Order: sequence, then structure tokens, then C-alpha cells
Amino acid sequence: RKTRVAILFGGRSAEHDVSRASAANVLRSLDPSRYDVTLIGIARDGRWIVADAGNGAGIGAVALAIPDDGPQLTLLPGGHGRTLVLERNTAGIRELPAFDLFFPVLHGPNGEDGTVQGALELCDVAYVGSRVMGSAASMDKDIAKRLMRDAGLPVVPYVAMSAMSPLTYDDAVGAVGSPEVFVKPANMGSSVGVSKARTAQEFEACCGLAFRFDRKILIERCVAPVREIECSVLEDANGNIRASQLGEIVPADKHGFYSYDAKYLDDDGAALQVPADVPPPVADRIREFAIKTFRVLGCEGMARVDFFLNGQQVFVNEANTLPGFTNISMYPRLWEASGLSQSDLMDVLIGHALERHKGSR
Ligand code: ATP
Ligand code: MG
Ligand code: MG
Ligand code: MG
Repeated sequence: RKTRVAILFGGRSAEHDVSRASAANVLRSLDPSRYDVTLIGIARDGRWIVADAGNGAGIGAVALAIPDDGPQLTLLPGGHGRTLVLERNTAGIRELPAFDLFFPVLHGPNGEDGTVQGALELCDVAYVGSRVMGSAASMDKDIAKRLMRDAGLPVVPYVAMSAMSPLTYDDAVGAVGSPEVFVKPANMGSSVGVSKARTAQEFEACCGLAFRFDRKILIERCVAPVREIECSVLEDANGNIRASQLGEIVPADKHGFYSYDAKYLDDDGAALQVPADVPPPVADRIREFAIKTFRVLGCEGMARVDFFLNGQQVFVNEANTLPGFTNISMYPRLWEASGLSQSDLMDVLIGHALERHKGSR
């Protein structure tokens, strides 16, 4: 019998559109002879809507669509290891046959931060990737950096700030030790709300932007000159954790840094170099840091760990527990460069999810 997989995508986050593109790619890489896939789109307003091919989404699409109307789903803990998936349509309510696992292809708050993972835990169903704690700790850049720093991993000097206790530009500069700073929401991704400040006036504007996305923001020392290096980490069903080849991102000058536009809107926004041209001893150190970061933050299944390289000095920037899976995304691409096809990658991720769930019974 085929494994019944429910892909969750879209979601109530600023990364909704990126998720629709990632989900299209995940769908394409799941071997149809082995997996029976149901697409569940989470609308921006939070409704879970069946979004299967006949319903507006589809194989071959660049991004999966979520229909405005369609059968709406409710997920409920059924007890005794049962998950109830109820479908509500004009004819009434019916229970769907059980799914073997859920694949959250969601980025950012309400998807990558432990919230959906918590709902799936309550429902006692297998799902791909990190659980509640690893997701939440990795999503909150303030918490993540504290844990990494405590474990001796090199992180960029930063200070966290809430609207309740604002810092002046001079305070922030004093705390991080450079007049050029990056300002970002504590919980977000795809560079949404990230910007750079060099003056008190820019600082006010950058903080205002970041506060649109979170109640807590980070002010970091700007690493310059900077090379951006990424490493994919994967855990298999036996608990073996491995790190991929490295990739480098070279954002186009006009973007200034690897912004949302450079990532997703501009076809020439950034050049990706795989494998990254990094001296082997430095590359080995980065791969070790990637695995250590994965463990320290409590990640499971997968994560893409992002680094800054300044000369020979390495900083861990962050871990992304549900990294992009779009057709230009680094996570699957680095595994391909390391000899693991995207379809095999899916098998490992799903194998890990099923085995973990069996073990938790
Ligand atoms: P992702 O899409 O990888 O989840 P994110 O929204 O979590 O991104 P970051 O990776 O922290 O955000 O930052 C986005 C980009 O901003 C980085 O890739 C880099 O180009 C730039 N950047 C962020 N912080 C710094 C810094 N301290 N020094 C230099 N560049 C930085
Ligand atoms: Mg991130
Ligand atoms: Mg991210
Ligand atoms: Mg990043």
C-alpha cells in the first residue's frame, strides 16, 4: 500500500508565497508510485483547504494554488493514536481516511516555529522535521543565538529589543560594536523585515519595519566584508546526522544583501556557487559547526544552517528548520551536489518521520 502523505503549505505567515513555491517542488519530488499525496493549503486567514490538482493546484506548477473555496479540513486528536481529519463541504462533514504522515512545507511563524508541530503532536501523527522545541528555538533568533553562544559556537554580536524597552541608535551601536547594523524581526525568514542601518535616522526606520513582523527584534553587528555560506543537515531514520557540501550565495550588488527581492523576485538577484570555493580546513570546520548547531538547537530531520565568513573567521548566523524547497533553493541543491537526489532526500525525511513516530508509541 502507498504511504499516505498530507502536504501542508501556504500558511498565515509573510512567507506564504514562498511556501507555495516550495510545496510545488516537494510534490514533484515525491515518487507517485510510492506516495499518495493530498495537498492541504492553509489560507492566509488560517483555513485548511483541500488544494489537490483538480482543485486548482498541480504538478508542473511553479507555485501551488490554494482555492478560495473548497472542502475545509479540521484536524483533531482522536485519542488512542488516532488522528481525526474531518472534511466539511456543502454536503456535510465526513471523516477522511487516516494519513500516515504530514509534511509541513511551511516557512516562518505558525509553521516553522513549533506551532503546527504542536498541533500534530497532539494529534499523535508522524510528521517531517523538527518537533516543537527544535522548531521554536531555531525560529527565535534571540533564543537560538543564546543557545549557540552558550555552546561555544561563534555568533555575531547582537542585542535584542522589544517595543517596551527601546534602545537608541547609540545604545545599539555601543552594544554590538559597529556603526553599521542589521535590524531584523526575531521570528521570521526569507529576509522579510530585514534591513541595514548606518545612521540614527535609518535605525528608526529599520526598527519600525522589523516591528511590523514581531514584538521582538534583533540588532546585529554588520559583518563586512561578508561571504554567505550555507550547509544542509539531514538526519536519517537511524539518527545519523550528516552535513552536505557547502554552497555560497553572492547577492547582486544592487540589492546590498541577500534580501527578499534578491531571493525570490529578481531572477538575477544572487548567484549560487555549489560547491562553495572555501579552503578545505575551513569547510570542514563549517560542516562541524553545522552539525553542532543542529544538535544544540534540538533540530530533527533537517535544517539548513547559514554562516557568515569574514576572512578566515566563521560565524553561525541561523538554522532554518523548514528551509526553502523552491527550484532555486539551496537545501535540496546541496544534497544533490552531495549525491542525494531530491526524490531520495524525500525518502530519508519521510523515513525519519515514520521511524520517530513508531518509537514514540
Ligand atoms: P532565511 O530566508 O535564510 O530564513 P532570515 O529572514 O531568517 O533568512 P537572515 O538569514 O538572518 O534572515 O538574514 C537575511 C540576510 O541578511 C542574510 O542572508 C544576509 O544577506 C543579511 N544579513 C543578516 N544579518 C547580517 C549581518 N549581521 N551581517 C551581514 N549581513 C547580514
Ligand atoms: Mg532564517
Ligand atoms: Mg527561513
Ligand atoms: Mg538566512
